[in-house]
Amino acid sequence: MSRLMYAVLVFALCRAVAPASAQDAPPLDALKREAVAEVDKLQTLTQQMVDQIFSYSELGFQEYETSKYVTAILEKNGFRVERGVAGIPTAWVATYGSGQPVLAFITDLDCIPRASQKPGVAYHAPIVEGAPGHGEGHNSGQAVNVTAALVLKKLMERENIAGTLKVFPGIAEEQLATKAFYVRAGLFKDVDIVLGSHVDSEFATNYGQPEFTPQGLISVQYFFHGKAAHAATAPWDGRSALDAVELMDTTWNFRREHLRLPQRSHYVIINGGDQPNVVPSEAAVWYYFRELDFPHIKELYELGNTMAQAAATMTGTTVTRRVVGSAWPPHFNMVVAETQQKNIERVGMPAWSDADQTLAKALQKEISAKEEGLRSKPTPLEPPKEITTGGGSDDVGDISWNVPMVYLRYPANIPNLPGHNWTDAVAMATPIAHKGSTAGAKVQAMTALDFLLTPELVRQAWAYFHDVQTKQVKYAPLIGPDDQPATDLNKEKMEKFRPELRKFYYDPSRYKTYLEQLGIQYPTLK
Ligand SMILES: [Zn+2]
Repeated sequence: MSRLMYAVLVFALCRAVAPASAQDAPPLDALKREAVAEVDKLQTLTQQMVDQIFSYSELGFQEYETSKYVTAILEKNGFRVERGVAGIPTAWVATYGSGQPVLAFITDLDCIPRASQKPGVAYHAPIVEGAPGHGEGHNSGQAVNVTAALVLKKLMERENIAGTLKVFPGIAEEQLATKAFYVRAGLFKDVDIVLGSHVDSEFATNYGQPEFTPQGLISVQYFFHGKAAHAATAPWDGRSALDAVELMDTTWNFRREHLRLPQRSHYVIINGGDQPNVVPSEAAVWYYFRELDFPHIKELYELGNTMAQAAATMTGTTVTRRVVGSAWPPHFNMVVAETQQKNIERVGMPAWSDADQTLAKALQKEISAKEEGLRSKPTPLEPPKEITTGGGSDDVGDISWNVPMVYLRYPANIPNLPGHNWTDAVAMATPIAHKGSTAGAKVQAMTALDFLLTPELVRQAWAYFHDVQTKQVKYAPLIGPDDQPATDLNKEKMEKFRPELRKFYYDPSRYKTYLEQLGIQYPTLK
């Protein structure tokens, strides 16, 4: 058993004999029941948010329409909005209330390149060919968090409950490109608890290092600079930056065999030169270096830098680099997760219709995945497993090492999909996403009430944070002091597709749902 696992166990045992909290006191329970009823009353707004953001289909750092839309809803409902936080044009924070505790909600906004897809259709059918789309389901997160925040505000106002609510967007999560900057800007300095949410096919929460995104990473672009020449008449005068990129990639792939098994590293060539008869004077490659802990991430990154320099030396070129993203491996809080799990079980899975199940099974069949439809039960909370192999990353990891935090994984998507793919967009503006988001909002609201009304729980969450999570491991940013948010990312791609996508923006004043606007029969099967 690792030292961390041992500490978790000791903490859990000590906590079991701690005095019972006021968690089940009648006022809290009555308020939770009311919160659930209020979330139900907002179902139309929740559905509209899911559909509207789906239709915007904005890539990381280009979430202008999405941010304008969400902040307008929050402002209209009495939240104070500060825009452009941490030097990121599309980032913002919306605040309501005053005093302790300070509860923050966070969830992503951005989508996936080339994942455009008609909702409710169980085969590949892009809305706009080649365009970005919500092939991760990030369009549903704000519907979850904002619905919960509006309900909480109403109850806090009426009952005179002290505390502050903050709502954050996860900008450019797909580039793992903002949360370290949020932390550096001090946005979470006074926050007591962070309730993140993320789309899933499960209804679940976790503590410790989660199996679904166990890794941290550094995302870095290497720019090689050579010398142009006529590739046929005077190639000896040229120095090819593309040669350097290819040598770096080849060397990395040889070295891969000798790296630790948990590492994940991948690259794309973002500039391979202009045309064959010009020796490429500029070329660039973009790497993600993923590992399970801070020292190993740094080690992998240093190795990448060494190889880049070596490739430059071999080719007579020079190299510069830019860090465009970073993420700590997340660690979620046991006390917050246990509190949240009770609310997940209380809410239970949405009631899926035959149409929902038919769509899910047809899509699973279409991609030769296991045909089991939608899940029928929430996932039990289990102690964290010893993580020995890699997986994905999420830059909320940086927040989780500064404030007790969890991710609510709410059931708004279909199981057994590959991720980052058009298939993952199919359910995301259908009743599956609408019902899953409503269920998620209920849990967010109830869990926030637990922490607003039970100061002892806040104290216990911080006790876990200090005595278990950060006892051995201290946070240090993976970004350097001079690194800046890469807010230019995706600009050209978005400008190319936005005029076409705009024709399909959802108009809730004319159509009840986005499916109705697109004239899609639900579900549409092959
Ligand atoms: Zn995500």
